[in-house]
Amino acid sequence: MIESSPRATKIVATLGPASNSPEMIERLIRAGVNVMRVNFSHGSVEEHSATIGHVREIAARLDRDIGVLADLQGPKIRIGTFAEGKVELVSGERFTFDVECQVGNRERVGLDYPELVNDVAPGDTLLLNDGRVTMRVERLGSSTIECIVLVGGTLSNRKGINRQGGGLSAPALTSKDMDDIRTAAKLEADFLAVSFPKNAADMYMARELMRAAGGRALTIAKIERFEAIGNLEEILLASDGIMVARGDLAVEVGDASVPALQKRMIKMAKGLNKLTITATQMMESMIESPVPTRAEVSDIANAVLDGTDAVMLSAETAAGKYPVETVESMVRVCLEADRHDALPFDNEFLNRTFTRVDQSIALSALWVAMRLKVKAIVALTESGSTALWMSRIDSGVPIYALTPAAAGRRRMSLFREVHPLSLDVHSKEREQVLLEAEMRVLQAGVVEHGDLIVMTIGEPIGKPGGTNTMKIVKVGFNH
Ligand code: PEP
Repeated sequence: MIESSPRATKIVATLGPASNSPEMIERLIRAGVNVMRVNFSHGSVEEHSATIGHVREIAARLDRDIGVLADLQGPKIRIGTFAEGKVELVSGERFTFDVECQVGNRERVGLDYPELVNDVAPGDTLLLNDGRVTMRVERLGSSTIECIVLVGGTLSNRKGINRQGGGLSAPALTSKDMDDIRTAAKLEADFLAVSFPKNAADMYMARELMRAAGGRALTIAKIERFEAIGNLEEILLASDGIMVARGDLAVEVGDASVPALQKRMIKMAKGLNKLTITATQMMESMIESPVPTRAEVSDIANAVLDGTDAVMLSAETAAGKYPVETVESMVRVCLEADRHDALPFDNEFLNRTFTRVDQSIALSALWVAMRLKVKAIVALTESGSTALWMSRIDSGVPIYALTPAAAGRRRMSLFREVHPLSLDVHSKEREQVLLEAEMRVLQAGVVEHGDLIVMTIGEPIGKPGGTNTMKIVKVGFNH
């Protein structure tokens, strides 16, 4: 059974020590998670394989279409380790990054990326631990970066390091990422998130590697580098979607720039028929507390109002004290924010011209659904494209995407306002398929006898890319 008032905005939850047991995965799915994120920055191939195995097995038992998102580590530059695990740095003191240093102390620490010495210049600001500690570069040696601490604080083993304003040379895909793409393909991940892409070429490369390894995951570009903002359109065109990765992005562009960038990114992505995930610190206080702050509630609601496909939880579900309560709170906020009035469609929508028959049927169906105030759109779709196009416009009409393909249903788990359902169409007559489609939405409890629905169909039924028919149906009155 799906929820009676279906939630339009989807929830991505990161699995980690607090949540990767079968029991917790089941509780998170029951609470409303649509996509499970497996973070390849931590854990072994065996662990990822076991976690994804649990997700698949539990989702099948609960009859849910749950997507799996494999998130690559990417070239995050990290400091080395300290003799004591951490040090306290004081503003005004000197501190050196030293490629040769094996064990760090209050004066120096190692670096896992020797090229950083060539990427920075005196006067640059370096941000550590997501900007909690900042330093100014004073002098460069052949293997050292000497700095003055501007904002002190605790610095512990292997914390990340960024340069304000971006410009670091590290390539988006490390050799570990390339191995992890092959693992993700083998484990049949539904989404592949690429960390720190700078341009379209990074995304084409990730997709090529995924396809060569036999994977069909949709590619998600994490927008977290300064350079990616300037290349946003080409990155979007080379990807299936983006993640507004607000943690690293705020470090590179400054935290105050992120909210407006979030709105711009979501708008541009939807205009290009791409997916969006809004991520990072959405429920940060719930790592320790069973209730969210007012500001967190507003942040999630604003992302929903911006039109994001999904909102994402990171440490809240991976390592927090209240993973299930966090998802329940997020569901509650999304449901309420979903109820806002649908945005009136603009001239751009009305004036669109199409070269594809399936796309024109999809958007005509959407237009009729909004004008006729139907209860639901029912799309018989093989590839999910019809559902994707319809879901790019905030219509307020739920879209039930019926397909026999389990992988297709899992990919649609991320699409805003799209609710995948299984329907076996093979070797069946047209009339029987249409009747079963009506029965399927009736049985799911989302429409009642006498409700109007709009159906999109490809005839002959069962052939991908063939949507060519729209039908308006009064449920239960046509057969
Ligand atoms: C981010 O920086 O916001 C982000 C989502 O990246 P990470 O994978 O480091 O959590």
